[in-house]
Amino acid sequence: MSSALKILPPIEPLAFQLARAVKLPKPLVVSFVRKEVTAWRKQLLEGTESDRDTIEKDIEAKLQAFAASRLQPVINGTGVLIHTNLGRSPLGKTAAAALEQIATGYSNLEFNLPDGTRGKRAGYLETALACLVNAESATAVNNCAAALVLILRHLCVGEKNEVIVSRSELVEIGGGFRVPEILETSGAKLVEVGATNKTHLADYAKAITPNTAIILKVHRSNFYIEGFTAEPDIAELSTLCKEHDIPLVEDIGSGAMMNTDELAPIDHEPTPQEALTKGVDLICFSGDKLLGGPQSGIIAGRSDLVAGVKKEPFFRAVRCDKLILTVLQESIDEYLRTQAAPTKTDVPNLKALAIKPEELKQRALSLIDSVGECPEAELSITESIATTGGGTMPRSKIPSIAIKITPRGISLNKLAQQLRVGTPAIVGYTQEKHLLLDLRTIFDWQDELVVSRLSEILS
Ligand SMILES: *Cc1c(COP(=O)(O)O)cnc(C)c1O
Repeated sequence: MSSALKILPPIEPLAFQLARAVKLPKPLVVSFVRKEVTAWRKQLLEGTESDRDTIEKDIEAKLQAFAASRLQPVINGTGVLIHTNLGRSPLGKTAAAALEQIATGYSNLEFNLPDGTRGKRAGYLETALACLVNAESATAVNNCAAALVLILRHLCVGEKNEVIVSRSELVEIGGGFRVPEILETSGAKLVEVGATNKTHLADYAKAITPNTAIILKVHRSNFYIEGFTAEPDIAELSTLCKEHDIPLVEDIGSGAMMNTDELAPIDHEPTPQEALTKGVDLICFSGDKLLGGPQSGIIAGRSDLVAGVKKEPFFRAVRCDKLILTVLQESIDEYLRTQAAPTKTDVPNLKALAIKPEELKQRALSLIDSVGECPEAELSITESIATTGGGTMPRSKIPSIAIKITPRGISLNKLAQQLRVGTPAIVGYTQEKHLLLDLRTIFDWQDELVVSRLSEILS
Protein backbone atom coordinates (compact mmCIF):
# COMPACT_ATOMS: atom_id res chain seq x y z
CA MET A 1 0.00 0.00 0.00
CA SER A 2 1.22 3.44 -0.88
CA SER A 3 2.05 5.26 2.36
CA ALA A 4 -0.26 8.09 1.39
CA LEU A 5 -3.22 5.66 1.61
CA LYS A 6 -2.56 4.96 5.30
CA ILE A 7 -4.51 8.03 6.26
CA LEU A 8 -7.74 6.69 4.66
CA PRO A 9 -10.32 5.95 7.37
CA PRO A 10 -11.48 2.33 7.62
CA ILE A 11 -14.91 2.16 5.97
CA GLU A 12 -17.11 0.18 8.36
CA PRO A 13 -16.17 1.83 11.67
CA LEU A 14 -16.57 5.29 10.15
CA ALA A 15 -19.89 4.32 8.59
CA PHE A 16 -21.23 2.94 11.87
CA GLN A 17 -20.18 6.05 13.72
CA LEU A 18 -21.80 8.35 11.12
CA ALA A 19 -24.98 6.27 10.77
CA ARG A 20 -25.92 7.15 14.35
CA ALA A 21 -25.61 10.86 13.66
CA VAL A 22 -27.66 10.95 10.45
CA LYS A 23 -30.25 8.28 11.40
CA LEU A 24 -30.12 6.62 7.96
CA PRO A 25 -30.19 2.85 7.35
CA LYS A 26 -26.68 1.42 7.96
CA PRO A 27 -26.25 -0.35 4.58
CA LEU A 28 -26.95 2.95 2.86
CA VAL A 29 -24.35 4.78 4.97
CA VAL A 30 -21.76 2.02 4.45
CA SER A 31 -22.26 2.20 0.70
CA PHE A 32 -22.07 6.00 0.77
CA VAL A 33 -18.86 6.01 2.86
CA ARG A 34 -17.32 3.33 0.62
CA LYS A 35 -17.89 5.46 -2.46
CA GLU A 36 -16.40 8.54 -0.79
CA VAL A 37 -13.37 6.69 0.56
CA THR A 38 -12.77 5.28 -2.91
CA ALA A 39 -12.89 8.77 -4.36
CA TRP A 40 -10.39 9.92 -1.73
CA ARG A 41 -8.13 6.93 -2.50
CA LYS A 42 -7.99 8.02 -6.12
CA GLN A 43 -7.18 11.61 -5.15
CA LEU A 44 -4.42 10.53 -2.75
CA LEU A 45 -2.89 8.30 -5.44
CA GLU A 46 -2.93 11.28 -7.76
CA GLY A 47 -0.89 13.19 -5.21
CA THR A 48 -3.47 15.20 -3.25
CA GLU A 49 -2.23 15.85 0.27
CA SER A 50 -4.58 15.51 3.22
CA ASP A 51 -5.01 13.96 6.65
CA ARG A 52 -7.52 11.60 8.22
CA ASP A 53 -9.38 14.28 10.12
CA THR A 54 -9.97 16.36 6.98
CA ILE A 55 -11.12 13.29 5.07
CA GLU A 56 -13.53 12.22 7.82
CA LYS A 57 -14.96 15.73 8.10
CA ASP A 58 -15.40 15.92 4.33
CA ILE A 59 -17.23 12.60 4.22
CA GLU A 60 -19.43 13.57 7.14
CA ALA A 61 -20.41 16.87 5.51
CA LYS A 62 -21.30 15.08 2.27
CA LEU A 63 -23.30 12.49 4.18
CA GLN A 64 -25.20 15.24 6.04
CA ALA A 65 -26.08 16.87 2.73
CA PHE A 66 -27.22 13.51 1.38
CA ALA A 67 -29.34 12.89 4.49
CA ALA A 68 -30.94 16.33 4.08
CA SER A 69 -32.04 15.34 0.56
CA ARG A 70 -34.36 12.68 1.99
CA LEU A 71 -37.99 13.76 1.40
CA GLN A 72 -39.15 15.42 4.62
CA PRO A 73 -41.62 18.04 5.87
CA VAL A 74 -40.68 21.69 5.40
CA ILE A 75 -42.23 24.74 7.03
CA ASN A 76 -42.80 27.19 4.20
CA GLY A 77 -41.99 30.74 5.26
CA THR A 78 -41.53 31.99 1.71
CA GLY A 79 -45.01 33.42 1.30
CA VAL A 80 -45.31 31.51 -1.98
CA LEU A 81 -48.46 29.42 -1.64
CA ILE A 82 -47.90 26.96 -4.48
CA HIS A 83 -44.14 26.58 -4.21
CA THR A 84 -42.91 24.23 -6.94
CA ASN A 85 -39.72 23.39 -5.01
CA LEU A 86 -41.64 22.76 -1.80
CA GLY A 87 -44.17 20.31 -3.18
CA ARG A 88 -46.79 22.68 -4.63
CA SER A 89 -50.15 22.37 -2.85
CA PRO A 90 -50.54 20.96 0.65
CA LEU A 91 -53.54 18.70 1.23
CA GLY A 92 -56.41 19.23 3.63
CA LYS A 93 -56.81 17.08 6.74
CA THR A 94 -59.81 15.17 5.32
CA ALA A 95 -57.89 14.24 2.20
CA ALA A 96 -54.89 13.12 4.24
CA ALA A 97 -57.09 11.01 6.55
CA ALA A 98 -58.80 9.34 3.57
CA LEU A 99 -55.37 8.58 2.15
CA GLU A 100 -54.35 6.70 5.26
CA GLN A 101 -57.53 4.62 5.22
CA ILE A 102 -57.12 3.51 1.63
CA ALA A 103 -53.35 3.13 1.84
CA THR A 104 -53.31 0.78 4.83
CA GLY A 105 -55.95 -1.66 3.56
CA TYR A 106 -57.71 -2.99 0.47
CA SER A 107 -60.21 -0.98 -1.55
CA ASN A 108 -62.76 -1.31 -4.35
CA LEU A 109 -60.32 0.25 -6.86
CA GLU A 110 -61.56 -1.96 -9.70
CA PHE A 111 -64.35 -3.85 -8.01
CA ASN A 112 -68.11 -3.37 -8.24
CA LEU A 113 -69.33 -3.92 -4.69
CA PRO A 114 -73.13 -4.35 -5.32
CA ASP A 115 -72.55 -6.94 -8.08
CA GLY A 116 -69.36 -8.52 -6.79
CA THR A 117 -67.86 -8.19 -10.26
CA ARG A 118 -64.90 -6.41 -11.79
CA GLY A 119 -65.52 -2.65 -11.66
CA LYS A 120 -64.41 0.50 -13.40
CA ARG A 121 -61.42 2.41 -12.03
CA ALA A 122 -62.15 6.02 -11.04
CA GLY A 123 -65.80 5.86 -12.12
CA TYR A 124 -67.03 7.88 -9.14
CA LEU A 125 -64.24 10.43 -9.44
CA GLU A 126 -64.88 10.99 -13.15
CA THR A 127 -68.56 11.70 -12.52
CA ALA A 128 -67.77 14.06 -9.63
CA LEU A 129 -65.13 15.89 -11.70
CA ALA A 130 -67.52 16.35 -14.63
CA CYS A 131 -70.19 17.64 -12.24
CA LEU A 132 -67.79 20.13 -10.64
CA VAL A 133 -66.52 21.66 -13.88
CA ASN A 134 -69.87 21.32 -15.64
CA ALA A 135 -68.50 19.09 -18.40
CA GLU A 136 -70.09 16.20 -20.27
CA SER A 137 -67.23 13.97 -19.21
CA ALA A 138 -63.92 14.05 -17.36
CA THR A 139 -60.98 11.91 -16.35
CA ALA A 140 -57.63 12.25 -14.59
CA VAL A 141 -54.03 11.22 -15.30
CA ASN A 142 -50.67 11.74 -13.55
CA ASN A 143 -50.14 15.42 -14.38
CA CYS A 144 -51.18 18.13 -16.78
CA ALA A 145 -48.17 17.55 -19.05
CA ALA A 146 -49.26 13.92 -19.51
CA ALA A 147 -52.85 15.08 -20.08
CA LEU A 148 -51.76 17.36 -22.91
CA VAL A 149 -49.55 14.71 -24.53
CA LEU A 150 -52.43 12.24 -24.34
CA ILE A 151 -54.87 14.69 -25.93
CA LEU A 152 -52.41 15.46 -28.74
CA ARG A 153 -51.67 11.80 -29.39
CA HIS A 154 -55.34 11.09 -29.65
CA LEU A 155 -56.31 14.01 -31.85
CA CYS A 156 -53.27 14.15 -34.16
CA VAL A 157 -53.46 11.16 -36.46
CA GLY A 158 -51.27 10.51 -39.51
CA GLU A 159 -51.22 13.44 -41.91
CA LYS A 160 -53.92 15.21 -39.96
CA ASN A 161 -51.54 16.32 -37.24
CA GLU A 162 -51.30 20.10 -37.54
CA VAL A 163 -51.83 21.97 -34.30
CA ILE A 164 -52.43 25.69 -34.58
CA VAL A 165 -51.05 27.73 -31.67
CA SER A 166 -50.67 31.48 -31.23
CA ARG A 167 -47.07 32.73 -31.02
CA SER A 168 -47.98 34.40 -27.72
CA GLU A 169 -48.75 31.01 -26.19
CA LEU A 170 -45.65 28.96 -27.01
CA VAL A 171 -44.79 29.03 -23.35
CA GLU A 172 -42.31 27.36 -21.09
CA ILE A 173 -43.86 26.39 -17.77
CA GLY A 174 -40.72 25.19 -16.00
CA GLY A 175 -39.45 21.73 -15.19
CA GLY A 176 -38.86 21.11 -18.88
CA PHE A 177 -42.40 21.77 -20.06
CA ARG A 178 -42.24 23.73 -23.33
CA VAL A 179 -45.24 23.77 -25.60
CA PRO A 180 -43.31 23.29 -28.90
CA GLU A 181 -41.40 20.33 -27.43
CA ILE A 182 -44.52 18.73 -25.97
CA LEU A 183 -46.10 18.97 -29.42
CA GLU A 184 -43.08 17.42 -31.06
CA THR A 185 -42.94 14.41 -28.72
CA SER A 186 -46.66 13.87 -29.30
CA GLY A 187 -46.27 13.54 -33.06
CA ALA A 188 -48.01 16.85 -33.67
CA LYS A 189 -46.87 19.44 -36.19
CA LEU A 190 -46.78 22.94 -34.78
CA VAL A 191 -48.35 25.65 -36.88
CA GLU A 192 -47.54 29.03 -35.31
CA VAL A 193 -49.86 31.95 -35.98
CA GLY A 194 -49.94 35.65 -35.09
CA ALA A 195 -47.25 37.72 -33.44
CA THR A 196 -45.89 37.66 -29.91
CA ASN A 197 -48.27 40.40 -28.83
CA LYS A 198 -51.20 40.08 -31.22
CA THR A 199 -53.07 37.20 -32.75
CA HIS A 200 -56.33 37.74 -34.63
CA LEU A 201 -59.16 35.40 -35.52
CA ALA A 202 -58.16 35.78 -39.18
CA ASP A 203 -54.67 34.44 -38.36
CA TYR A 204 -56.21 31.21 -37.08
CA ALA A 205 -58.66 31.04 -40.00
CA LYS A 206 -55.88 31.46 -42.59
CA ALA A 207 -53.84 28.64 -41.03
CA ILE A 208 -56.57 26.01 -41.25
CA THR A 209 -55.86 23.27 -43.83
CA PRO A 210 -57.33 19.80 -44.42
CA ASN A 211 -54.51 18.56 -42.14
CA THR A 212 -55.47 20.70 -39.18
CA ALA A 213 -56.01 18.42 -36.19
CA ILE A 214 -56.86 20.98 -33.50
CA ILE A 215 -56.58 24.59 -32.46
CA LEU A 216 -54.75 24.74 -29.14
CA LYS A 217 -54.92 27.53 -26.59
CA VAL A 218 -52.36 27.55 -23.79
CA HIS A 219 -52.88 29.68 -20.71
CA ARG A 220 -50.05 32.12 -20.04
CA SER A 221 -49.78 30.81 -16.51
CA ASN A 222 -46.52 32.27 -15.36
CA PHE A 223 -46.17 35.53 -17.25
CA TYR A 224 -48.23 38.43 -18.38
CA ILE A 225 -48.27 40.45 -21.57
CA GLU A 226 -49.49 43.99 -21.46
CA GLY A 227 -49.71 46.93 -23.83
CA PHE A 228 -50.43 46.65 -27.56
CA THR A 229 -51.98 43.18 -27.40
CA ALA A 230 -54.93 41.31 -28.88
CA GLU A 231 -56.33 37.84 -29.08
CA PRO A 232 -59.68 36.57 -30.30
CA ASP A 233 -62.47 35.85 -27.90
CA ILE A 234 -62.74 32.13 -27.06
CA ALA A 235 -66.37 32.12 -28.23
CA GLU A 236 -65.32 33.43 -31.67
CA LEU A 237 -62.56 30.87 -31.90
CA SER A 238 -65.03 28.17 -30.95
CA THR A 239 -67.38 29.23 -33.76
CA LEU A 240 -64.50 29.09 -36.24
CA CYS A 241 -63.59 25.60 -35.03
CA LYS A 242 -67.16 24.37 -35.31
CA GLU A 243 -67.41 25.70 -38.89
CA HIS A 244 -64.39 23.56 -39.81
CA ASP A 245 -65.22 20.64 -37.53
CA ILE A 246 -61.92 21.03 -35.64
CA PRO A 247 -61.79 20.49 -31.87
CA LEU A 248 -60.77 23.51 -29.79
CA VAL A 249 -58.48 22.41 -26.96
CA GLU A 250 -57.24 24.58 -24.09
CA ASP A 251 -54.50 23.88 -21.56
CA ILE A 252 -55.72 26.15 -18.77
CA GLY A 253 -52.84 25.28 -16.49
CA SER A 254 -53.97 25.94 -13.00
CA GLY A 255 -57.55 24.85 -12.53
CA ALA A 256 -58.87 27.50 -10.18
CA MET A 257 -62.40 26.43 -9.27
CA MET A 258 -63.37 29.67 -7.61
CA ASN A 259 -63.25 33.29 -8.61
CA THR A 260 -59.79 34.03 -7.33
CA ASP A 261 -60.51 37.76 -7.42
CA GLU A 262 -63.26 37.27 -4.82
CA LEU A 263 -60.94 35.47 -2.43
CA ALA A 264 -58.03 37.86 -2.38
CA PRO A 265 -56.94 41.04 -4.17
CA ILE A 266 -55.52 39.07 -7.08
CA ASP A 267 -56.20 38.55 -10.77
CA HIS A 268 -59.08 36.57 -12.13
CA GLU A 269 -57.74 33.19 -13.18
CA PRO A 270 -59.79 31.52 -15.92
CA THR A 271 -61.78 28.61 -14.51
CA PRO A 272 -62.51 25.27 -16.25
CA GLN A 273 -66.22 26.10 -16.15
CA GLU A 274 -65.65 29.37 -18.05
CA ALA A 275 -63.55 27.72 -20.75
CA LEU A 276 -66.15 25.01 -21.33
CA THR A 277 -69.08 27.44 -21.29
CA LYS A 278 -67.36 29.58 -23.93
CA GLY A 279 -67.16 26.59 -26.24
CA VAL A 280 -63.80 24.91 -25.66
CA ASP A 281 -64.24 21.22 -26.55
CA LEU A 282 -61.56 19.77 -24.31
CA ILE A 283 -59.54 21.27 -21.46
CA CYS A 284 -56.72 20.06 -19.27
CA PHE A 285 -55.35 21.47 -16.02
CA SER A 286 -53.16 20.58 -13.05
CA GLY A 287 -54.58 19.02 -9.89
CA ASP A 288 -51.91 20.38 -7.55
CA LYS A 289 -51.86 24.07 -8.37
CA LEU A 290 -54.77 26.30 -7.38
CA LEU A 291 -57.12 23.32 -7.16
CA GLY A 292 -55.09 22.21 -4.15
CA GLY A 293 -55.28 18.48 -4.80
CA PRO A 294 -52.63 15.84 -5.48
CA GLN A 295 -50.27 15.90 -8.47
CA SER A 296 -52.56 15.03 -11.35
CA GLY A 297 -53.80 16.27 -14.69
CA ILE A 298 -57.49 16.62 -15.30
CA ILE A 299 -59.08 16.30 -18.72
CA ALA A 300 -62.66 17.46 -19.21
CA GLY A 301 -65.06 18.31 -22.00
CA ARG A 302 -66.97 16.61 -24.83
CA SER A 303 -67.71 13.01 -23.91
CA ASP A 304 -66.68 11.55 -27.29
CA LEU A 305 -63.27 13.21 -26.96
CA VAL A 306 -62.76 12.15 -23.33
CA ALA A 307 -63.78 8.59 -24.19
CA GLY A 308 -61.34 8.59 -27.12
CA VAL A 309 -58.49 9.86 -24.95
CA LYS A 310 -59.18 7.08 -22.42
CA LYS A 311 -58.94 4.44 -25.16
CA GLU A 312 -55.40 5.53 -26.11
CA PRO A 313 -52.85 2.85 -25.19
CA PHE A 314 -50.72 5.64 -23.70
CA PHE A 315 -53.49 6.32 -21.15
CA ARG A 316 -52.42 3.14 -19.33
CA ALA A 317 -48.90 4.56 -18.93
CA VAL A 318 -50.05 7.74 -17.24
CA ARG A 319 -53.05 6.57 -15.22
CA CYS A 320 -53.30 7.57 -11.56
CA ASP A 321 -52.67 5.10 -8.77
CA LYS A 322 -55.15 4.47 -5.96
CA LEU A 323 -53.49 6.91 -3.57
CA ILE A 324 -53.77 9.80 -6.00
CA LEU A 325 -57.33 8.81 -6.91
CA THR A 326 -58.28 8.79 -3.23
CA VAL A 327 -56.90 12.26 -2.56
CA LEU A 328 -58.31 13.69 -5.78
CA GLN A 329 -61.73 12.20 -5.03
CA GLU A 330 -61.61 13.78 -1.57
CA SER A 331 -60.53 17.17 -2.97
CA ILE A 332 -63.26 17.22 -5.60
CA ASP A 333 -65.94 16.19 -3.12
CA GLU A 334 -64.73 18.96 -0.80
CA TYR A 335 -65.32 21.54 -3.57
CA LEU A 336 -68.77 20.11 -4.31
CA ARG A 337 -69.69 20.13 -0.60
CA THR A 338 -68.59 23.71 -0.02
CA GLN A 339 -69.70 25.20 -3.35
CA ALA A 340 -72.44 27.15 -1.60
CA ALA A 341 -70.18 28.24 1.28
CA PRO A 342 -66.64 28.66 -0.07
CA THR A 343 -65.41 30.10 3.24
CA LYS A 344 -65.97 26.70 4.90
CA THR A 345 -63.44 25.00 2.64
CA ASP A 346 -60.84 22.57 3.94
CA VAL A 347 -58.52 23.24 0.96
CA PRO A 348 -55.34 24.75 2.51
CA ASN A 349 -54.53 27.02 -0.47
CA LEU A 350 -57.94 28.62 -0.34
CA LYS A 351 -57.89 28.97 3.42
CA ALA A 352 -54.47 30.58 3.26
CA LEU A 353 -55.64 33.03 0.58
CA ALA A 354 -58.58 34.12 2.71
CA ILE A 355 -56.77 34.88 6.01
CA LYS A 356 -56.92 38.54 7.02
CA PRO A 357 -53.54 40.24 7.64
CA GLU A 358 -54.82 41.24 11.12
CA GLU A 359 -55.07 37.57 12.07
CA LEU A 360 -51.53 36.94 10.83
CA LYS A 361 -50.35 39.92 12.86
CA GLN A 362 -51.78 38.48 16.07
CA ARG A 363 -50.04 35.17 15.40
CA ALA A 364 -46.76 36.92 14.64
CA LEU A 365 -46.96 38.92 17.88
CA SER A 366 -47.58 35.87 19.99
CA LEU A 367 -44.89 33.92 18.19
CA ILE A 368 -42.28 36.61 18.85
CA ASP A 369 -43.46 36.82 22.44
CA SER A 370 -42.99 33.07 22.88
CA VAL A 371 -39.45 33.16 21.54
CA GLY A 372 -38.71 35.91 24.10
CA GLU A 373 -35.45 37.77 24.47
CA CYS A 374 -32.68 36.35 22.33
CA PRO A 375 -29.09 37.53 22.29
CA GLU A 376 -28.44 36.34 18.74
CA ALA A 377 -31.09 38.31 16.88
CA GLU A 378 -33.78 40.92 16.89
CA LEU A 379 -37.29 39.78 15.99
CA SER A 380 -39.99 42.12 14.72
CA ILE A 381 -43.11 42.17 12.58
CA THR A 382 -43.22 43.51 9.06
CA GLU A 383 -45.75 43.82 6.28
CA SER A 384 -44.92 41.51 3.40
CA ILE A 385 -46.25 40.34 0.05
CA ALA A 386 -47.32 36.76 -0.50
CA THR A 387 -47.91 35.30 -3.97
CA THR A 388 -49.78 32.31 -5.36
CA GLY A 389 -46.65 31.05 -7.18
CA GLY A 390 -46.34 27.68 -8.89
CA GLY A 391 -46.65 29.34 -12.27
CA THR A 392 -50.03 30.86 -11.47
CA MET A 393 -51.09 34.48 -11.51
CA PRO A 394 -47.70 36.14 -12.01
CA ARG A 395 -49.05 39.49 -10.86
CA SER A 396 -50.60 38.26 -7.61
CA LYS A 397 -49.61 40.39 -4.63
CA ILE A 398 -51.34 39.30 -1.45
CA PRO A 399 -50.83 41.60 1.56
CA SER A 400 -49.28 39.51 4.30
CA ILE A 401 -47.32 39.61 7.54
CA ALA A 402 -43.85 38.25 8.16
CA ILE A 403 -41.55 37.82 11.11
CA LYS A 404 -38.40 39.80 10.43
CA ILE A 405 -35.27 38.31 11.95
CA THR A 406 -32.18 40.51 12.08
CA PRO A 407 -29.27 38.37 13.25
CA ARG A 408 -26.64 39.92 15.53
CA GLY A 409 -24.11 37.20 16.30
CA ILE A 410 -24.33 34.93 13.28
CA SER A 411 -24.38 35.82 9.61
CA LEU A 412 -27.64 36.00 7.72
CA ASN A 413 -26.70 33.09 5.47
CA LYS A 414 -25.70 30.94 8.41
CA LEU A 415 -29.01 31.63 10.15
CA ALA A 416 -31.00 30.79 7.03
CA GLN A 417 -29.01 27.58 6.61
CA GLN A 418 -29.45 26.50 10.23
CA LEU A 419 -33.20 26.91 9.88
CA ARG A 420 -33.17 24.85 6.69
CA VAL A 421 -31.16 21.90 7.98
CA GLY A 422 -32.81 21.34 11.38
CA THR A 423 -36.00 19.38 12.08
CA PRO A 424 -38.49 20.46 10.95
CA ALA A 425 -36.75 22.40 8.20
CA ILE A 426 -37.84 26.03 7.87
CA VAL A 427 -37.40 27.93 4.62
CA GLY A 428 -37.72 31.71 4.60
CA TYR A 429 -36.30 34.41 2.35
CA THR A 430 -33.75 37.14 2.84
CA GLN A 431 -34.35 40.81 2.30
CA GLU A 432 -31.44 43.18 2.82
CA LYS A 433 -30.03 42.32 6.29
CA HIS A 434 -33.07 40.33 7.40
CA LEU A 435 -34.53 36.88 7.18
CA LEU A 436 -38.29 36.93 6.66
CA LEU A 437 -40.75 34.20 7.55
CA ASP A 438 -44.10 34.92 5.94
CA LEU A 439 -46.97 33.68 8.10
CA ARG A 440 -49.48 33.24 5.29
CA THR A 441 -47.77 30.03 4.19
CA ILE A 442 -47.03 28.81 7.73
CA PHE A 443 -49.97 26.86 9.17
CA ASP A 444 -51.10 27.96 12.64
CA TRP A 445 -50.39 24.46 13.96
CA GLN A 446 -46.77 25.02 12.96
CA ASP A 447 -46.30 28.15 15.06
CA GLU A 448 -45.07 26.15 18.07
CA LEU A 449 -42.52 24.38 15.91
CA VAL A 450 -41.27 27.70 14.57
CA VAL A 451 -40.95 29.02 18.13
CA SER A 452 -38.94 26.02 19.25
CA ARG A 453 -36.62 26.09 16.24
CA LEU A 454 -36.01 29.83 16.60
CA SER A 455 -35.36 29.51 20.34
CA GLU A 456 -32.97 26.63 19.71
CA ILE A 457 -30.92 28.61 17.18
CA LEU A 458 -31.10 32.11 18.57
CA SER A 459 -30.82 31.83 22.33
C1 LIG B 1 -48.38 24.05 -14.82
C2 LIG B 1 -48.78 23.95 -16.20
C3 LIG B 1 -48.59 22.76 -16.91
C4 LIG B 1 -47.91 21.57 -16.31
O1 LIG B 1 -48.70 20.97 -15.34
P1 LIG B 1 -48.15 19.70 -14.53
O2 LIG B 1 -49.34 19.25 -13.76
O3 LIG B 1 -47.05 20.20 -13.68
O4 LIG B 1 -47.69 18.69 -15.51
C5 LIG B 1 -49.00 22.72 -18.22
N1 LIG B 1 -49.58 23.77 -18.80
C6 LIG B 1 -49.80 24.94 -18.15
C7 LIG B 1 -50.42 26.07 -18.88
C8 LIG B 1 -49.40 25.06 -16.82
O5 LIG B 1 -49.61 26.21 -16.17
